[in-house]
Amino acid sequence: MNIIANLAKLKSELPLNIKLVAVSKTKTVKDILEVYNTGHKIFGENKVQEFVDKYESLPKDIEWHFIGHLQTNKVKFIAPFINLIQGVESLKLLQEINKRASQNNKIINCLLQIHIAKEDTKFGFDKNEVIKMLNSEEYKSMQNIKITGLMGMATYTYDDVIIYNEFNELKNIFDFLKLNFFSDKSEFSELSMGMSGDYKIAIKCGSTMIRIGSHIFGDRNYKS
Ligand SMILES: *Cc1c(COP(=O)(O)O)cnc(C)c1O
Repeated sequence: MNIIANLAKLKSELPLNIKLVAVSKTKTVKDILEVYNTGHKIFGENKVQEFVDKYESLPKDIEWHFIGHLQTNKVKFIAPFINLIQGVESLKLLQEINKRASQNNKIINCLLQIHIAKEDTKFGFDKNEVIKMLNSEEYKSMQNIKITGLMGMATYTYDDVIIYNEFNELKNIFDFLKLNFFSDKSEFSELSMGMSGDYKIAIKCGSTMIRIGSHIFGDRNYKS
């Protein structure tokens, strides 16, 4: 597998308005630099320790996204350098991010993760939970977080109809929240959906940001 060729092919096929997050989890600093040296600057990681180690040995102008499940007690380790936390799935986590952002004198951008898949293993709010949180005083009092959109993962399946339905549902929730809670907030603009196996469907359903790992870097040795 040739990382540079994979990346070039993928980029040549993507609509210009789609942001590409290169998911570099399990991949080496050398592999990441190969992609970075083409001019690509947005990367995603999902394990805090691995992430911190790599961060230290990589250029500081990378835009880092944390993707997936983040434990509350680990927010402090990434707060100083994180650009976007994708996958905020509880008020408690958001409050911790707010606290650590404040200690670092910054505002941390976050995507709320919505549970759309049939699988229980995937995290996230359902629509009613997210509405409840957005109406709460605890949410409204936070000064150091900015919700810039939503993120979701479809069921891992070969059945495209299921994937279409789940991504359409996420797009509908995005439009509903935009209208009812974020109509005056231009920053609420990102809909992160689509991975190597389903990004083409996600784009048809209104994705603005795709998170691609194996399609760029090749298969991972372990599933995570
Ligand atoms: C691993 C991962 C990806 C990328 O997966 P690929 O199938 O390798 O593209 C995207 N999003 C999240 C949340 C992930 O954990």
